[in-house]
Amino acid sequence: MQKLEMLYEGKAKKVYRTDNPECFWVEFKDNATAFNGAKRGTIDHKGVLNNRISAYFFRLLAEKGVSSHFVSLKGDRDMVVKALKIIMLEVVVRNIAAGSLAKRIGFPEGTLLEKPVVEFYYKNDALNDPLVNDDHIKVLKLATTEQLAQMHQTALQVNRILLEHLAGKEIDLIDFKLEFGLHNGKLLLGDEISPDTCRFWDKKTGEKLDKDRFRRDMGNVEEAYREIYRRLTGKNFEE
Ligand code: UDP
Repeated sequence: MQKLEMLYEGKAKKVYRTDNPECFWVEFKDNATAFNGAKRGTIDHKGVLNNRISAYFFRLLAEKGVSSHFVSLKGDRDMVVKALKIIMLEVVVRNIAAGSLAKRIGFPEGTLLEKPVVEFYYKNDALNDPLVNDDHIKVLKLATTEQLAQMHQTALQVNRILLEHLAGKEIDLIDFKLEFGLHNGKLLLGDEISPDTCRFWDKKTGEKLDKDRFRRDMGNVEEAYREIYRRLTGKNFEE
């Protein structure tokens, strides 16, 4: 398959057309941003790590019956995916209060939630990605009732699969963000699943192993991403 012209450049990835109209080519960058692009930096090797970590999670989910856009890895920082028309929503699932939820409802960070909380955010940089409810989604025509129900159900299914899998790797899954898109009318998981889009805490020590280390200037950011890769695959990233 051939990588052709770039269609889109986002904060962490570039998307290219390919010679197959059914597929896009995604290149993961080392650039890191936070707070809707207000904070910018680079995390060495992040592109390669997130490419491989995302492929790992998409393969795990496929084994468990959850379809995503992932097709195959290409080289170090690239993957081929099914061409999606992205639904302009971020779907967040939370098990433990952190980040914006801790602020919004006043729970101290680290509070176990009685049940997983699913939230939808409107992907719109100019509006700062606001939290939206079912009615907002309908009047904005972002998704149909059926698509919304399917995203909600799939998000909880992904949560169950990841929680169980990560527990075996001594990692607590605090929260994560998913994106969905349509491929020939079928709803598929898109984007990435990585320490950029999930909060991972070490089960024993509570140490943060995700992008919060970058957001909060905690240091050892690359090491945290490498540690997630190592725990998942049992290999060091250079191997
Ligand atoms: N998240 C993301 N992209 C965003 C916003 C959030 O991947 O644009 C992820 C984030 O990494 C975390 C979860 O979604 O795992 C919940 O994030 P939160 O709403 O707490 O916002 P944040 O504190 O990251 O601003």
